[in-house]
Amino acid sequence: AAKNDGRNAIRFFDPMMQAAVTARAALENDLRTALAEQQFLLYYQIQIGPGDQPVGAEALIRWQHPTRGLVSPFDFIPLAEETGLILPIGLWVLQTACKQLQRWRNDPATADLQLAVNVSALQFRQPDFMEQVGALLRHTGARPDRLKLELTESLALENVEDTIAKMKVLRGLGLRFSMDDFGTGQSSLSYLTRLPLDQLKIDQSFVRNIGIQHTDALIVQTIIGMAHSLGIDVIAEGVETEQQRAFLALNGCTLCQGYLFSRPVPLDAFESLLTQYASPA
Ligand code: C2E
Ligand code: MG
Ligand code: MG
Ligand code: MG
Repeated sequence: AAKNDGRNAIRFFDPMMQAAVTARAALENDLRTALAEQQFLLYYQIQIGPGDQPVGAEALIRWQHPTRGLVSPFDFIPLAEETGLILPIGLWVLQTACKQLQRWRNDPATADLQLAVNVSALQFRQPDFMEQVGALLRHTGARPDRLKLELTESLALENVEDTIAKMKVLRGLGLRFSMDDFGTGQSSLSYLTRLPLDQLKIDQSFVRNIGIQHTDALIVQTIIGMAHSLGIDVIAEGVETEQQRAFLALNGCTLCQGYLFSRPVPLDAFESLLTQYASPA
């Protein structure tokens, strides 16, 4: 870093830092207009059950930036969280998901699909989060039990009492909950049993190492065992090979999501993918 010459605060920054600050400010500025300009898209990644049955999808946001092209959520969700822009963005995601569920509702081929939506901590902590979700469900006519909220362990544990209270209200409406990236956080077993979850989602870092790292295969088996003990579902994310899928199935995890089946794709591609699999039960 530059030496403090006591004249100009900007000289504290080295050129790399300066460039990073400028780029961040530009991105933040673009992010502010992205919603109004309708630059966000929802992609869908299929989730497959036993017998190659599609059981649903995870909704994953994409940003179609006018000059940068498709921006990954890894590159803008953290900034959206820091700036609070995740609130309107998260609401847009939920609303888009609910509208889609309403459209699927009328077709027997899609009526049973569950749509999983990622929820940010800031969004979930809003005192009116439950009312917002309730209003969206009423206004769109989506079936509440087709909407699944994905929470992370860090979100759930930062305020366990608030988390449990909100989950209970939303489950009362019919919503489902999945614990995303499971195994990477700090959940203690005692907290885990208190959360009214419907599903554990095994993090892809463990799935990737099935057949490579013995300890990761053990972690996968342990998570599956935990889900079974709790009497809830378990799904694996990041499934890329038949070997991984076979190991998961052998150990009792028959729900999978990953590139083995499909990358996250736009709605029309997702719907044509559905027809390539058996119709949902
Ligand atoms: P996530 O919720 O854990 O989503 C899974 C990520 O893994 C997705 O990345 C997905 O494209 C990727 N993935 C799926 N299958 C495979 C596979 O077989 N191999 C590999 N290598 N990757 C796979 P994506 O779409 O880039 O999203 C990244 C993260 O951004 C998500 O992680 C989630 O935390 C966040 N995110 C995405 N959409 C939203 C959103 O609408 N709201 C919020 N708050 N966060 C979102
Ligand atoms: Mg997720
Ligand atoms: Mg995940
Ligand atoms: Mg992840």
